[in-house]
Amino acid sequence: MSLTLTADQSALRERARDFALQTVRPRAAAIDRNGDYPLDIVAALTAEGFMGMTIRLAYGGQGRSFFDALLVVEEMAKQCAVTARIVVEANMGALAAIMHYGSEEQKQLAAALVLGGDKPAICISEPDAGSDATSMTTRADRRGDHFILNGCKHWITGAGISRLHLIFARAFDESGRELGIGGFIAIAGEDDGITVTRREATLGLRGMPEGELVFADLKIAAHRVLAPPGGFRNGFGDLMNAYNSQRVGAGTVAMGIAAGALDEALAWVKERHQFGRPIGEFQGLQWMLADMQTQLTAARLMLYAAAGSRGSHDSPFPCPNLAAQAKIFASEAAQKIVNDALQMFGARGYSNALPLERMLRDVRMFTIGGGTTQVLRNLVASKLLGWKLPQARDAYAPAHYAIAAE
Ligand code: FAD
Repeated sequence: MSLTLTADQSALRERARDFALQTVRPRAAAIDRNGDYPLDIVAALTAEGFMGMTIRLAYGGQGRSFFDALLVVEEMAKQCAVTARIVVEANMGALAAIMHYGSEEQKQLAAALVLGGDKPAICISEPDAGSDATSMTTRADRRGDHFILNGCKHWITGAGISRLHLIFARAFDESGRELGIGGFIAIAGEDDGITVTRREATLGLRGMPEGELVFADLKIAAHRVLAPPGGFRNGFGDLMNAYNSQRVGAGTVAMGIAAGALDEALAWVKERHQFGRPIGEFQGLQWMLADMQTQLTAARLMLYAAAGSRGSHDSPFPCPNLAAQAKIFASEAAQKIVNDALQMFGARGYSNALPLERMLRDVRMFTIGGGTTQVLRNLVASKLLGWKLPQARDAYAPAHYAIAAE
C-alpha cells in the first residue's frame, strides 16, 4: 500500500484546502452560534463536486475512492467539523450502502438526491437500542407489495433536513413471522408517515441537526427495500459492513479537527510572548507540540490503512477491525490534541472569540457516535480472541465474527 498521493489526489486536496479556507472558515463560528444547517455551504459543496464524489460515473458522480473523499473531509474538518460531517455522509454511510447493495432504481434515486445536495440520514439508534442496536423494535410488516413501518429512531443526524433516509427495521412477513433486520429507503417530503418529534440541544457540531423521528404507518414499497446478498437474515451484518466507511470518515473528521487545532497552536506559540520570548521557545510547549504531531501522524496512518483495507475480497468497504481501531485511536487522540492546543492559548483559548473552544466541543462527539469507543474495543477484542461479540444475537451476527472452531 502506497501512502504517496497521486498528482490527482494532491490537486484534489489543494482544491479542498482552498475551498475550506475561503468558503468554509469564514462561516464556521456563525454555523456554531446559530445552529442552523448551513444550506449555503451545502450549495457550494455541491457546486464544487464534493457531494457524492464517490458515486460512480455511470450514476453521474466522479467515481472517486473513499480515500479521496477522506482527503477532502480532513481539509473541511480543519475549519468546520459540521461541513466535514456533511461530506462524510454525502459519500459514505447510507449512500455507500445503497450504491453497493441497491437495485438499479435505488442507486439512481440515491445518486440524484445526493448529487442535488441532499445529505442522507442513516436511522439505526433507538431510545432503548443504542450500542445494543440489534435490539431495535422498529418494525416493518409486509402487506402485499409494500411494508408498513412503525417505530422511533433517535439521534438521527440530519433529522428534518435530509430527504434520503435508510431506516433499519425488523421485517415481518404477512403471517407475522420475523425475517430479520433490513434497510428501508424512505424519502422525507414524499413518503407520508415520518415526523420529527424532537431536536437535540448538543454540546458541539451545532449546525448539524440531531433529532428523533417517529414512523407511523410509513408505507415503503417492496422495491425500496435494500436487500444485501444474505437477505434479511444477515441484513444487519451486511448493512453494517457499509457503515465501516462512515466509521473511517468519522475518525477522519476527528483527526481533521485536531490537525486544525495544531495549526492554530503553531501560529500562536510563535506570536505570543511571555518572559521576553515567544512561548514556543519553552521546551514544555515544544514537547507538547511534538506529541500532538506524533499522535496526529499515527491517527492519519491508521485511518489511511483502514481506508485502503477491505473486509473481504468482494467487499468495497474497509475491514471492520481496522476501521474500529482507527476510529478508537483517532477519536481519542484528537480529543487530547485539541485540549492541549487550547491549553497553549491560555485564557484566550477558553473564549468563544477563537475557534479552540468550538473545536473541543465538536471533537467530543467522536468517541460516542457511530459506535462508542468501548463497543468498538469489544469488536477488536472479539477478533483477537476469535469469540463472538457477547451481546450480539446469534441470528444477526455477521459471519466473520463466527468462532473459528464452530
Ligand atoms: P448506550 O448504548 O446506552 O451506552 C452507554 C455507555 O455504555 C457508553 O459509554 C457505552 O460505551 C457503554 N456500553 C454499552 N454497551 C457496552 C458494552 N457491551 N461494553 C462496554 N461498554 C458498553 N445513530 C443513528 O442511528 N444514526 C445517526 O445518524 C446517529 N448520529 C449520531 C450523532 C451524534 C452526535 C451522536 C452523539 C449519536 C448519534 N447516533 C446516531 C447514535 C449513536 O450511534 C449512539 O449514541 C451510540 O451507538 C451509543 O448508543 P447510546 O447513546 O444509546 O449509548
